Amino acid sequence: MTPLDMLDERLQRCWSPVTHINAVMNSKELRPIYQQGVQKVAAYQTEVAQNEALYSAIKSVGRSADFDTYSDEQKQMLEHTLRDFRLAGAELKGDARARYKEIQMRLSELTTTFEQHVLDATRGFELLIIDEADLAGLPESVCEAANQRATEAGKSGWLFTLDIPSYLPFMQYAENRELRQQIYTAYVTRATGGELDNATVIDEILQLRKEAASLLGFDDYASYSLATKMAETTAEVTQFLRELAAKSRKMAEAEVKELTTFAIKELGLDMLNAWDIPFASEHLRRHTYDISQEELKPYFPAKQVLNGMFELVERLYGIEIREGKAPKWHKDVHFFDIFDKNGAKIAGFYLDPYARADKRGGAWMDECVIRWRKPDGSLQLPVAYLVCNFDAPIGEKPALWTHNEVITLFHEFGHGLHHMMTRVNTRGVSGINGVPWDAVELPSQFMENFCWEREVVNYFARHFETGELLPDTLFDKMLAAKNFQAGMQMLRQIEFALFDMVLHSEHQPASEESVQDVLDRIRDEVAVIIPPEFNRFQNSFSHIFAGGYGAGYYSYKWAELLSADAYAAFEEEGVTNPETASRFLDTILSVGGSRDLMKSFEAFRGRKPTVDALLRHSGIQ
Ligand code: ZN
Repeated sequence: MTPLDMLDERLQRCWSPVTHINAVMNSKELRPIYQQGVQKVAAYQTEVAQNEALYSAIKSVGRSADFDTYSDEQKQMLEHTLRDFRLAGAELKGDARARYKEIQMRLSELTTTFEQHVLDATRGFELLIIDEADLAGLPESVCEAANQRATEAGKSGWLFTLDIPSYLPFMQYAENRELRQQIYTAYVTRATGGELDNATVIDEILQLRKEAASLLGFDDYASYSLATKMAETTAEVTQFLRELAAKSRKMAEAEVKELTTFAIKELGLDMLNAWDIPFASEHLRRHTYDISQEELKPYFPAKQVLNGMFELVERLYGIEIREGKAPKWHKDVHFFDIFDKNGAKIAGFYLDPYARADKRGGAWMDECVIRWRKPDGSLQLPVAYLVCNFDAPIGEKPALWTHNEVITLFHEFGHGLHHMMTRVNTRGVSGINGVPWDAVELPSQFMENFCWEREVVNYFARHFETGELLPDTLFDKMLAAKNFQAGMQMLRQIEFALFDMVLHSEHQPASEESVQDVLDRIRDEVAVIIPPEFNRFQNSFSHIFAGGYGAGYYSYKWAELLSADAYAAFEEEGVTNPETASRFLDTILSVGGSRDLMKSFEAFRGRKPTVDALLRHSGIQ
């Protein structure tokens, strides 16, 4: 296994900085070189994953008399490697092998087609507004962006599209109900009918996924998907979702009632249509909680927030974070070293906080260097990239962050700690490596909780000019607004997750029951809002048909369950209790994917996860 580790390491050390720089300092010189590299790296990975000689060599390691002498982390890495070979079809012979390959190729075509149809359908719609009266209700900034979009398209007026940054504010603010209906209808009927119809694409994807899973000996695609995840069985997942749904129902129904009454009484609507919901919700939200992110920003100056977050984790884990030295790609980038309580260096990380024209949007953590006990016995320390896209400071004024941005920073730092606080020495399961998909967000969502904790917020939330602590009145408003429509949102996510799971397990492709039938019966079961008959949201549900979330959409809620329940231990024992934190570090954070995640969770909590904390954090009793 060592030569394989060394190959992976060599590739990682040269390729990680390239992908990183491509994302944060993109340039037309780098782009084609990056593309060439992507192809070579993909070819190498395919070659390794399908190499039969390599597979049989690794199998012999797994069967060797030495196996019992390996450490637990080595055994785990070996098991993961063998499992991934099997799931890629390495055990298949003859016709089955050929058919499996054929299916994989066809599936890759189909998922690309699915995504392309969604993109083309999204681009195929435009709403050009000529009459200024039709803009009523829309904020200035939204109108400006629409005007600019029109200008860029060589038109005059205001142009709205089905891209989320354009679609969503229109649905939330536009007072013109007919136009809302028009744009809503276009949005939820994307990739239906005509050349871009995804209905047949979905049917074929489902059939082929099922066939591929059965070639590998699984009952269905959901079981195949769960083979690499923390959740063990389909029943475990659906039971969890159904329990959450049942417990959230009452609150969601009350929210719908409140919204309907508000829409009729305050907004003068005759009834609540699907295209009225975001509009009425936004009005209700502002009516109930008059709080804006802008109001909070002066209390969250960048440096203060950062130091406060460091203070928190220093207290929790007995570490120390100090600015360190490393080559940087931009003047706004910082590098920090992490030291343990004995003063020994254990990790380092880059922080690139501000948006730039040549930088990809969003926020993420990525691996720069992986912790690894090298063949010569020396220990390589982990290094992370933390990337955000916050507004840069203007002039002398410090950068001020919204509370949402503070949460984003904590979230990514949580991923970073998972990577950096690892004590695993085996490369393949060190840090976030080998952590199942449905548990990867545990440490990140866990960190978000602290942003709602008065004791912790006091570490950093001071007015950048007056030094005044964030007033209780503002903090209470923040808390109250946090769970606005939490019941409705919960049921919506469950509807998607349950639909995905049932579609990939119970449902028989090419049977009497259509995909729409499945969706309808899931909605009958859990939804509090039934969309109109013409809604075909599934035809643009890229997460499960084109992304990696097939029979895995539940992962969002699953990871939330784990992080909420883990955090509840801190609520019980003291949110900055170093003993609780050190137990969390020992059982979960530092072991990552080196052992079964459920075992890790049980070691920390003394029991299996329950939904109580998740419901409570969402304000659902
Ligand atoms: Zn995340």
